[in-house]
Amino acid sequence: MVKPGEKDSVHLGDVPRPTLSSSQALLKIRKVGIDGTDMEINNGSYGECPTGSDYLILGHECLAVVEDIEGPSDIQKGDLVVPTVRRPDNCPNCVDGEPDMCLKGEYKEHGIKGLHGFASEFGVTDSNFLIKIPQDLEDIGVLLEPVSVAEKGLFHTFKIQERLKWSPRRALVLGSGPLGLLTTFLLRLKGLEVSTVARGVKGSLKSQLVERSGAEYVSTSEKSLNTLGLFDIIMEVTGVSSVAVDAQQLLNANGVMCFLGVYPPRTVSLDVGKVYTDLVLGNRTYFGSVNANKRDFEIGVRDIRQIEKSFPAVLRDMITKVIPLSDFKSAFYPDKGDIKILLDLSAIGKETKDTVLEDSI
Ligand code: BGC
Ligand code: ZN
Repeated sequence: MVKPGEKDSVHLGDVPRPTLSSSQALLKIRKVGIDGTDMEINNGSYGECPTGSDYLILGHECLAVVEDIEGPSDIQKGDLVVPTVRRPDNCPNCVDGEPDMCLKGEYKEHGIKGLHGFASEFGVTDSNFLIKIPQDLEDIGVLLEPVSVAEKGLFHTFKIQERLKWSPRRALVLGSGPLGLLTTFLLRLKGLEVSTVARGVKGSLKSQLVERSGAEYVSTSEKSLNTLGLFDIIMEVTGVSSVAVDAQQLLNANGVMCFLGVYPPRTVSLDVGKVYTDLVLGNRTYFGSVNANKRDFEIGVRDIRQIEKSFPAVLRDMITKVIPLSDFKSAFYPDKGDIKILLDLSAIGKETKDTVLEDSI
């Protein structure tokens, strides 16, 4: 758990086993992935407790087994599932199944905003937001949540480009963390020529994974961005404003650039006249993308299988550590070579109470 707003508050704690109300599912948690958002919450800069709770259980990237389920659902007890993250408010987009496009901002997010996450023995969620995972994807299914974020960004990228006749050839991915790698793999599945750019030198596991998918890994410590030529698609995943600004200039005419990062405040000196003129004269598009809806998770299940088939074991090899809950701290202070760290929660359950990731007081 954490105490949102407090720095370094992540800790283990006991909570009562959750109870079910109508159209909810009780999940026995198998694995939880830790990402940048969890770190930001533990930094005190993000996160919101559920109403009536003074702590927030972390864990929005989850793989679980359905222990119990209420209400009509195509999911049954014993199914392996991934819950989506966001729950709707009553705005038109939310009502229409697109809570990721929420207009009002009163949505909730498991493990992030107003709903407990899944870093515990059991979790509870609305049974209409479960995605069934085939058994053979058991060891990588927990990657579906970050895959869905990349899927949504790409779905919108291609949807936006239906505005014109467009045959993209070259794509640039900025960043080689989990989301950058997953975006790279998905673009490679689409047959694009992909360059993935990051600071780390060549030879690292990240660069090897990029290359195993047939993409080019470019280290900015060896080659500068402006030598790479122009790209039809740019996916910005670093969350570094200066990188984003530099890369904007690499967008080809008719191209599209998707921002997937969260950008800390930063003032840069920029010729906005040039930026806007380039935008107009080249029919360029820049857009932002957050979260994902059920459609993106469903496409993600299909593509996870396809990635494993086309680029064997790249997803498995992205997972650099699987640790028991008691070692949770090492997920928040990763080693240099770590890519994705998972908490294995399948072993807990002998106690009468539920042990969870909670915030120290
Ligand atoms: C999650 C998204 C979420 C976003 C903002 C990300 O880490 O993957 O689903 O919408 O954080 O809270
Ligand atoms: Zn909404």
